[in-house]
Amino acid sequence: MDLLYYGVVRMNNIMTNSLNTVRPATVAKAGNPGATTRRSIADLLAPLDQLAVNSPNIVANRQARFEVEGECYVLPHYLFIGPKSGDAPIRIGIFAAIHGDEPEGAYVAVRFLHFLETYAELAAGYCLTIYPVCNPTGFEDNTRHSRRGKDLNREFWSKSAEPEVDLLEAELVSHSFHGIVSLHVDDTSDGFYGIVNGATLAKNLIEPALKAADAFLPLDQRGLIDGFPARNSVVRDLFPGVLRAPTVVRPRPFEITLEAPKGRPAFLTEYAFVAALQSILANYRKFIAYAQNL
Ligand SMILES: [Zn+2]
Repeated sequence: MDLLYYGVVRMNNIMTNSLNTVRPATVAKAGNPGATTRRSIADLLAPLDQLAVNSPNIVANRQARFEVEGECYVLPHYLFIGPKSGDAPIRIGIFAAIHGDEPEGAYVAVRFLHFLETYAELAAGYCLTIYPVCNPTGFEDNTRHSRRGKDLNREFWSKSAEPEVDLLEAELVSHSFHGIVSLHVDDTSDGFYGIVNGATLAKNLIEPALKAADAFLPLDQRGLIDGFPARNSVVRDLFPGVLRAPTVVRPRPFEITLEAPKGRPAFLTEYAFVAALQSILANYRKFIAYAQNL
C-alpha cells in the first residue's frame, strides 16, 4: 500500500474513532423493563481500534457512513495486510453479523484479527477486508433484521433501498474480491456447516475448513439443512438476495458461508470459525500457487 495513503487512512481512523460512540444497547435491563440499553458497537471495536493504532498490518476504516432515523452510523471495516509473498495480494472479504442477533460472527471477526496480528504469516500474500458488523442497528438491537425492519441478507443486487446494502454492494464492487466468506449462526442447527457458491473450487476449500471446525464443534450431518439438501455438511443452494459478489463478475470468486450452531460455548464457536478461516486461507493460497505453475 502506498505509504502516504496508509498514513492518511491511519490519521483519519484516529480522528473518527469517536464516531463509533453510539447510543447504548436495547437489551432490556433485568428488574427494570422500561430501561433499555443497546449492545455497544464501540465496546466491540475498541480493542481492535487500539490494535490498529499500533499494528503495521491493520488499518481501520470508518468512511462508509449512513443514517437511520436521524442517527449517524458507520459500516466499520478493517484491512489486514499480510506479509508480502511476491505476487499481487489475494483479496478476501470476510463479512459478519449481517443478522444482528448473530453477534458471534462479530466477536469472531475481532478474535481473528487479533489472531492474525500475532500470526501474520498465516495471511501471507493476502489483503483481507473484514467487516465485523454488517448490520449495525440490528447488532445494537439484537435483532436479525435492521432497525428499518429488513433482513439485509435478502436484499443484495436487487436495487435495495437499504443504506447498509448499498454500502456493502459498493464494497463488493470496489474490492473485486477473489473470495468472500460470510459468518453466520443458525439456531435451527445442532452442528457446524457450510454453504458454497461461486467458483467451483469453493467445494475444495469448504471440506478442509469444516474438518478444521470439527475439532471444536460437531458438524451438522443432516440431509436437509435450513430447507436445502445437504451433503457432508455442505449446502449448495442460496436464498435469493444473500450477500455475494456482483452477478456480472467473471471469473466468479469463491463464496463460502460458515454457519455455526447457536448456543454453544463462545470460545468453542470462536475457535471453530477461526480454524475454518485459517484453513480457507492456507488452502486457497496453495490453489493459487498451483494455478500459477500450470
Ligand atoms: Zn444469519
